[in-house]
Amino acid sequence: MLNKPLPSLLGLTKDDMIEIFEQHDEPAYRAGQVLEWIYRHRAGSIDQMTNLSEPLREKLTEQFRFKTMEKVKVQGAGDTTQKYLFKLHDGRYVETVLIPASKGLYGDKADRLTACVSSQVGCAYGCKFCASGLAGLTRNLTADEIVGQLMEVEALSGKKINNIVFMGMGEPLANIKNLEKALDIITGQWGMNIGARHITISTSGLAPMIKQLADRPQQIRLAISLHGATDEVRDKIMPVNSKWDIDALFEALHYYKNKSNKRLTLEYILIKGVNDSLDQATILAKRAKSLKALVNVIPYNTVEGLDWVRPDDEHCHRFRNTVRDAGVTTTMRIEKGHDIDAACGQLRLKQETEEGIIKAPIKA
Ligand code: SAH
Ligand code: SF4
Repeated sequence: MLNKPLPSLLGLTKDDMIEIFEQHDEPAYRAGQVLEWIYRHRAGSIDQMTNLSEPLREKLTEQFRFKTMEKVKVQGAGDTTQKYLFKLHDGRYVETVLIPASKGLYGDKADRLTACVSSQVGCAYGCKFCASGLAGLTRNLTADEIVGQLMEVEALSGKKINNIVFMGMGEPLANIKNLEKALDIITGQWGMNIGARHITISTSGLAPMIKQLADRPQQIRLAISLHGATDEVRDKIMPVNSKWDIDALFEALHYYKNKSNKRLTLEYILIKGVNDSLDQATILAKRAKSLKALVNVIPYNTVEGLDWVRPDDEHCHRFRNTVRDAGVTTTMRIEKGHDIDAACGQLRLKQETEEGIIKAPIKA
């Protein structure tokens, strides 16, 4: 029942669930039974939880939602990258992408299935090149809406996800409370049981929250959307840099690095004439070396309504080689034609603009 504004069972940790059952004078082991139905048996409804008494199932149905979203659209065929558009209970949309075999990226093997999840509807950070930030922030996703994306794409594709990247819509660290709850459910052995080392969080650089994440006992991987090696360049395209400049950001990254021995990734999209000079490449390499970070060079993906341009392939290679030749491990993937796995936020933007939920975005 999609429109019922009830809390969802998918947003509860094991402790939350035990507490709820105790409040209803039900034994704590019921919590384990419900979690098994959700995450092990993948029940499609509360009614399917047949080892619970009928009155208890009724009580749960009255108080909780089970489904958190509805599939609206899927782009791409089964064995390639697939982009899912989901409708939330309040009529808003989010995107989730399934990427098979992201070989080499984030230390993963070729047989991986990666899910790229959204953390917010829209984004408040307004990076000038990004579709997600074009119409500002609508709202945070709740923990159940984060977990729900993963559960839905697994159910719809019939495949098991073994790698998660928070690189969809939104700034995950601006929604850190719900993010942390979702991480507990995703990594819990009673939950989705996906290891923290298979999870990467991408951030535009919210320094205090990077430190907060570093203090978690789990070793989550971190990717930073750097996109400019100096404040002068970064200021032009990422407003977040006026709040936490590159020095503040790197101070937090060193803190993260010292707490966790996981390798950091610096993401660097290449936009023609904006951040793609070879001087930037040299400074980027120096910064990456100070952190022993990996650099992922991403030729810009055109966004409808924005005038930014991707440099030609030759220049992208020259930029990448400059960073690599300075002794930094780099990755770069040049897509031919339209690439659906990057530039997340475009499907939702189109859908919500068409429906008049948001006004047509203003050009940056
Ligand atoms: N808010 C977070 C996570 C979501 S964005 C962050 O910014 O890191 C995921 C990645 O896609 C970011 O690195 C972002 O900079 C990048 N991106 C956004 N628009 C893009 C585009 N048009 N082409 C290529 N990468 C893009
Ligand atoms: Fe937000 Fe990330 Fe897009 Fe910037 S790049 S607007 S932080 S989603």
